Amino acid sequence: MKPSTSCVHAGADLRYTRGVNTPIHPSSAFTTSSGQPNLYPRYYNTPNQEVVVRKLCQLEKATEGILFASGMAAVSTTLLSLLQQGDHVLFAEQLYGGTLHLLNSEFEKRGISYSFVRGTTAEDFAAALHPKTKIIYIESPSNPLLQVLDIAQIAALGRERKLITIIDNTFASPINQNPMELGIDIVIHSGTKYLGGHSDLSFGAVLTANTALYELVYHTAVNYGGNLNALDLYLIERSLKTLALRVERQNQNALELAHFLSQHPKVRQVNYPGLTTHPGHEIAQKQMKKGFGGMLSFVLKEEAEVNSFMERLQVVLPALSLGGVETLVCIPAQTSHVKLTKQERAELGISDGLLRLSVGIEAPEDLMEDLAQALG
Ligand SMILES: *Cc1c(COP(=O)(O)O)cnc(C)c1O
Repeated sequence: MKPSTSCVHAGADLRYTRGVNTPIHPSSAFTTSSGQPNLYPRYYNTPNQEVVVRKLCQLEKATEGILFASGMAAVSTTLLSLLQQGDHVLFAEQLYGGTLHLLNSEFEKRGISYSFVRGTTAEDFAAALHPKTKIIYIESPSNPLLQVLDIAQIAALGRERKLITIIDNTFASPINQNPMELGIDIVIHSGTKYLGGHSDLSFGAVLTANTALYELVYHTAVNYGGNLNALDLYLIERSLKTLALRVERQNQNALELAHFLSQHPKVRQVNYPGLTTHPGHEIAQKQMKKGFGGMLSFVLKEEAEVNSFMERLQVVLPALSLGGVETLVCIPAQTSHVKLTKQERAELGISDGLLRLSVGIEAPEDLMEDLAQALG
């Protein structure tokens, strides 16, 4: 099945009614039956959990997966299930803020060390390996600068050195990028973003085609208990039916806005992997099959104008999250990276004039008109 078809049909469980939708199974108690596994929400095996996992496995070319109540539950359960005292993790430098906070606050007290890689190539990662490195963890495209990492090369390095490779694939979505096909061991999503797609659900997913790794994460997940409930799972299944449609439109809109912004006299720079001027464009073309995603960022020539720009917007909403049907904008220097000094932000390439745009599914003309009037 092609992804658009998988979005609609994969995993559905239509055995019990004549309805075309999976029924909601709200039970937390299930009758036991000899020889059958016990069903329980925290065992991640109730009917609505299984339906959504099957759909996501098809979309990400995985064989097993676990759904959590947030993206961070997926990230923390995965990392902490695979790591123990003495282990080292190599992280890509540009990481989601919540993940960075997890390392800063939870790793040291568990005796787990980590370091960051600035570059985008396997050579950059190879040069930073440590004798105790167990995991390579990356994001591509990254937040908020849309840096593109060479996923296949980094996955090959992981295989060669017998390391576990993990990618947070939230920004690309499984419609645009399937890292397991490129050799990555574990894919994580914050479903709160594109998978949910309507800014009204919180969930996360861990997906893999490696049964041994799945078992390790699963046993910790049962202990940590980050499971979802049947009502939310029903809404997630419903959202996923339109994932391909939404993401394809977001790809088109973002590309159009990226071109529009790059020609605007008030804009200094646009970061979007779909632009031929983006340093990672060629790699993005190889690893992002359908499009370059709905996320972009841009820098105003006059840093001082960011706040008045935000205030003049009429259609585009100022908000922190991303991946929904509505176009959202935020100022990373004042939000996700506000705790860093200006100097620290500059080292990461985040200027005070940087704006991050999560492009929705509105008519691109309306979005361009709104951005144009707000840019002045
Ligand atoms: C939002 C996000 C997360 C965390 O997801 P939550 O659902 O907020 O816990 C992790 N990674 C990326 C890239 C994100 O954008």
